[in-house]
Amino acid sequence: MDGIVSSPAARIKSLTRLVQNSGLYPNNPIVNSATTEPVIWVDGRDHLLFCSNNLLGLSNHPDVKATAQKALERYGLGSGGSRQMAANIDVHRALENRIAEFVGQEDAICFAAGYMANVGVIPALMKVDFLQSLARTHLGHKDLHGAETETATGWEIFSEELNHASCVDGVRLAQSKVTKFAHKDMGHLTEALEHSDQPSKLIVSDGVFSMDGDIAPIPEMAKLARDHHAMLMIDDAHGVGMLGDYGRGSLEHLGVSTKDVDLQMGTFTKAFGGVGGYVSGDREIIDFLRISARTYIFSAPLPPAIAAGVTEAIDIAEREPWRREKALENAFYFRREVEAQGYETLGSEAHIVPTLIGDEIKAAEVTRLLRHRGIVAPHARYPAVALGRARIRFVMTCQHERAQIDFLLECLAELRETLAL
Ligand code: PMP
Repeated sequence: MDGIVSSPAARIKSLTRLVQNSGLYPNNPIVNSATTEPVIWVDGRDHLLFCSNNLLGLSNHPDVKATAQKALERYGLGSGGSRQMAANIDVHRALENRIAEFVGQEDAICFAAGYMANVGVIPALMKVDFLQSLARTHLGHKDLHGAETETATGWEIFSEELNHASCVDGVRLAQSKVTKFAHKDMGHLTEALEHSDQPSKLIVSDGVFSMDGDIAPIPEMAKLARDHHAMLMIDDAHGVGMLGDYGRGSLEHLGVSTKDVDLQMGTFTKAFGGVGGYVSGDREIIDFLRISARTYIFSAPLPPAIAAGVTEAIDIAEREPWRREKALENAFYFRREVEAQGYETLGSEAHIVPTLIGDEIKAAEVTRLLRHRGIVAPHARYPAVALGRARIRFVMTCQHERAQIDFLLECLAELRETLAL
């Protein structure tokens, strides 16, 4: 066999077998009920669920379901094409207007998923100079902003090291120079900006970090962006609907004006209980994205029933602040108690509360033993987090009751003993 290289398919299969046999393969349970409730039906019995993104309980809200059902009746299942062809439907526009109003930006553009928003928008921004020269040549416009002086087209993206995979992939697709800055390290970001030789700069950061639950220093980033004439994009998938006095997200929570952040990205999958993503900002920037973001142009939008249901969910989130208050109270209580047991929660400040385990195999064991006790709480590990930093990622919602959280705490205390965590 020496010198004979096995085929790619054989290598893929053999690696899959290896991971499966190691016990590390994610054998996610098949759930036979809605996963939007804190109690779900798995393997013929009830389990407590501590990883649902239905943070405000809106996925299963009667008014949300009724609105979606009405829209399903009226518009049918799919959208029938992309927004730029047949499917620029009134419910899509209504959702864009509603979310823009909710977060306090001029306009918004919706995508079929938050992931699609990030991988579409980040590379689209980098196309401005190319499209500008195209416009000059084909439309004969000499008066485009900066067109006579701005000859360089170079961009540099400054990307937070713990950004969500969708931001990372958006950055990769942009094919521009990239500098990764250390987690929440504004000294590092300042230095990188000062050393940049590129004329156009974009800073990209999560608002609430998805695997750690901590919050980015957005005021400092906004100042740096201003000082260095950089654009700033915040992925607030976990902040919008949850943080701030009115639930408008991390910016509101930290007292940052929406004027100081060029693009605020978010998803409808979490606080609003549906699916889909958006980016909000100044109208002309959003209009530019409609002609440059490939995941908007070349892909079908959200199903109309979802767009209508999510619009209803935003209304309820706005008028019922008790939902986010209860989710955050639950998180505060769980974090305090689990830390008292000696678990490390990685600086979590919001509804995402990780407990660091470290070793991947041990983390898989914790998930498995929790399942035995009737609790579904998956672990996050490489590549979602760094190797050796595996963790159980708990998400607290407004639907969890104190007794359910206490039972989880009891099980975690036992596991700490048995597994010497
Ligand atoms: N950004 C962040 C920070 C996320 O956590 C997620 C989803 N986990 C996304 C973007 C992608 O959102 P979606 O699930 O709507 O594709």
